Amino acid sequence: MKPVLALVGRPNVGKSTLFNRLTRTRDALVADMPGLTRDRKYGLGRGADRPYVVIDTGGIGEGLEGVAEPTTEQARLALAEADAVLFLVDGRAGLTVADQQLAQLMRTLNKPVHLVVNKTDGLDEDSAMAEFYALGLGEVHAIAAVHGRGVRRMLENVLAPFPLPPEVDAEEQAADSGIKVAVLGRPNVGKSTLVNRLLGEERVVVYDMAGTTRDTIEIPYERHGKRYTLLDTAGIRRRGKVFEAVEKFSVIKAMQAIDDAHVVVIVIDAREGLTEQDLHLLGYIIEAGRSVVMAVNKWDGLSVEHREQVKAELGRRLEFAPWMRVHTISALHGTGVGDLYPLIERAWASAFPKVSTNSLTQMMEAIVARHQPPIVGRNRIKLRYAHIGGSNPPRIIIHGSKADSVPAGYRRYLENRFREQLKLEGTPVRVEFKSSE
Ligand code: GDP
Ligand code: GDP
Repeated sequence: MKPVLALVGRPNVGKSTLFNRLTRTRDALVADMPGLTRDRKYGLGRGADRPYVVIDTGGIGEGLEGVAEPTTEQARLALAEADAVLFLVDGRAGLTVADQQLAQLMRTLNKPVHLVVNKTDGLDEDSAMAEFYALGLGEVHAIAAVHGRGVRRMLENVLAPFPLPPEVDAEEQAADSGIKVAVLGRPNVGKSTLVNRLLGEERVVVYDMAGTTRDTIEIPYERHGKRYTLLDTAGIRRRGKVFEAVEKFSVIKAMQAIDDAHVVVIVIDAREGLTEQDLHLLGYIIEAGRSVVMAVNKWDGLSVEHREQVKAELGRRLEFAPWMRVHTISALHGTGVGDLYPLIERAWASAFPKVSTNSLTQMMEAIVARHQPPIVGRNRIKLRYAHIGGSNPPRIIIHGSKADSVPAGYRRYLENRFREQLKLEGTPVRVEFKSSE
């Protein structure tokens, strides 16, 4: 489980600046996918050798009693789910009444709170921090989010208490105990119905395992002699028909499930089409580099015109992820549900391309011959060789001169051609460049 860090503070102290800095390394991965909305409030980052999730709680304002409190449901949920809180204050503005009110709220949280004094660029750190010790919140860190000063040191300190994630060989794990599948989506799209259908359709061997941390339950089962494991994060299986409590959508839970899963089945409701929240979720899946299959549910009872309309809309709005298989189902009637399995298998297999540097380089040469890289400035980009730099998600590393000035459009071209040639389906692929001069 990645530790979850929540950024809290009154407006203008630099939360979004720090957020961008903490998630910067990941930004580029989805930045050049036009059409994919990114939720700027949740992000993945890596620092001090470990991955983390960071949340900008944003909406902290004046509550009913004149006390600063999180005003949005998501901010409240974020605080509840955080493993550590970074409480930001402005070193230039000094201590304010709003800071003091927020400090009171921080004390009630019962979790590690780090006081982060921002905007200390050009200030004497010690004197900038001095007055904030009065808040009595323990650890105080001086940073300058704009320049990144002090951020690494702060991160090391904040992350130190959390265990390093275990090294898992996912490919081996899946070969051993089956592909781990997470069924995710907004409330009411039909996840629970689909999960019960996936488990109940066959005469499956199902055994409940004790709930681990954060309510994730792993349900191993077999289908046609093959093993799978369903990740039931939101208790979607138990919810069933008896009482249909409406689930609270938690981005953090979804992110943790994405992390734990080998393949995500993202469910959307055909009747509602693709919503912003669906796109956010998809953004996290892609950002995490996870294999994914989209199930368009509630396909039953739609008129022919309506179906055409939904298909056209999906085709248009999912142009940024042409590699994702989009499959229509009716979880209620079971139509199309079994077809999800080959797509899941395919998406997982695609995460581990097996190809030698030689063949990949030959492939690259053919792709480049068909369409040369553009001339950037005065320099002709020359791509020399390509090799696989990692799997799950597959990374293709291309070496050459001026390779790091390859524009995003050409990178996408390479990515799509490699994907076709390698027959990769259902996984994001990353093409990276290394310049040799
Ligand atoms: P938020 O409202 O808490 O999200 O604050 P923002 O991140 O939007 O920052 C508010 C203002 O403070 C912006 O003009 C930032 O450029 C500026 N700012 C943020 N961090 C720093 C910093 O480390 N030093 C200085 N000098 N300005 C900063
Ligand atoms: P969840 O909140 O995503 O787990 O959604 P549920 O599985 O609880 O389903 C929400 C509602 O949609 C329930 O009333 C289901 O009966 C209904 N539903 C689920 N799948 C389908 C489907 O394929 N077709 C139709 N017509 N209704 C469905």
